[in-house]
Amino acid sequence: QRLQTSLQAYPTALESQELWALLSQIAKAAQQRGWHLYVVGGAVRDLLLAPENTVVPLKDIDLVVDSFRSSVVDGAGVVLAQQLQQQYPEAELQVHGEFQTAALIWRARAGHAPLMIDIATARTEFYPYPAANPEVEASSIRQDLYRRDFTINALAIRLTSPQPGLLLDFFGGALDLRRRQVRVLHANSFIEDPTRIFRAVRFAVRLGFTLDAQTERFIRYAIDSGIYADLQAQKERRRLPALQTRLKAELSYIFQADYWAQSLGLLDKLGALSCLHPDLSIDAALWRQMHRVGRWRQRFIDAVGRDMGVAPWLMRLEVLLAKLDARSQIATDLQLPLGSIQRLEHLGSTEATLLAQLQPKQLPSDIYQTLETYDIPTLLLASVRYPKRIGTYVWQYATRLIHIKSPIDGYHLKRLGYAPGPTYRQMLTVLTHAALDGHVVSVDSAEAYLKRHYPLEQLHPQSNPSD
Ligand code: ATP
Repeated sequence: QRLQTSLQAYPTALESQELWALLSQIAKAAQQRGWHLYVVGGAVRDLLLAPENTVVPLKDIDLVVDSFRSSVVDGAGVVLAQQLQQQYPEAELQVHGEFQTAALIWRARAGHAPLMIDIATARTEFYPYPAANPEVEASSIRQDLYRRDFTINALAIRLTSPQPGLLLDFFGGALDLRRRQVRVLHANSFIEDPTRIFRAVRFAVRLGFTLDAQTERFIRYAIDSGIYADLQAQKERRRLPALQTRLKAELSYIFQADYWAQSLGLLDKLGALSCLHPDLSIDAALWRQMHRVGRWRQRFIDAVGRDMGVAPWLMRLEVLLAKLDARSQIATDLQLPLGSIQRLEHLGSTEATLLAQLQPKQLPSDIYQTLETYDIPTLLLASVRYPKRIGTYVWQYATRLIHIKSPIDGYHLKRLGYAPGPTYRQMLTVLTHAALDGHVVSVDSAEAYLKRHYPLEQLHPQSNPSD
């Protein structure tokens, strides 16, 4: 009932009907084939957590179809999604063949949230008994739920008959929701998939839950057993990319959230940052840098007047990795954007150059010339790490110097009688530097400056400015 009322009121990107009617339609299609359909995962968790009669904001709907091992070539989830897409051609269909999973995606439209419906096929491959056996009916969805991360994410609501609306709770998820705790399903879970450590922390912090004591012990056990070494071994076996992709996704969720500092603090306390590198931990200086980078990034954008093209979560991650010698290798393993990898790769030499060149009592044009060769994210990264020795100059550059231009341009040079050519660029640079140092403040003073440094009669003896 709660699922129905919540979904009926939920403003999704569906054009002609509401979400509940759509799910009922998929359930009917599944029922006609003799299959069972379930809502699983986050939607069920969030629904049970929300106060009665509230509309639960759902990001995605995860469905699992149990086809009792009927011989559908593509997987039952894919078949249902394809059938649905014929009725909703505006939805984009994505098929992940190897997992027998399909997703239908409706892009956001005005006032309506985007919608993604994921239809997976219950995985029965480990189950040894004949499909027709009613025991299998419960067991294949049970098996599917057992593969999941935490009890609170392993709940399902059946949409098909008999008993549509039945809550399947094989592992005590509803009780854990009431106790407000994150509990893992099996002892080896974190060894199998270390990204679950990051997920456990993310859910605990986001929902205001605690980590169940046994779960915390499993996490510590997995970490003590040498997770980083394991990851490196996986790298040799070429299994690392899939894991690292998931790890990067988790890191991005954590660093994007308002509660990133709390999550990171808990990860650090658990020793879980050793998944990234055995030496990685957070001291007071790193905390300050990580807080600073978010604030300063926004200030830089405001000062420079354009976005810097690097998301805040990524800058935070860069600051975290920057303290490690192996930073660019880790960034490469995590498949961070090329710009981040290069920034971290050259960070040592960038900072050495900046520290050497940015000396007290320099002319503004010297500061400008030192800094103009770097992009703003690079300068930001170096600034938050050396706020006094680099940050002060970068701030002066970003707020003031970067906006100072020569008061006259190439057309003006032409009007003054200078012959167009490569010297224009040089003259305009010299004028900009003069403007930076306060020698040139207006068009008149720029012309006078040119007359002194680029006398026309020497450059072009026959030229006549009035031509
Ligand atoms: P959110 O509200 O953050 O989207 P969610 O529970 O929907 O939460 P997803 O990352 O979308 O989280 O995953 C959907 C479901 O897939 C989860 O509820 C969980 O059951 C399962 N799952 C996701 N990642 C893992 C994992 N690494 N190991 C086991 N199960 C997972």
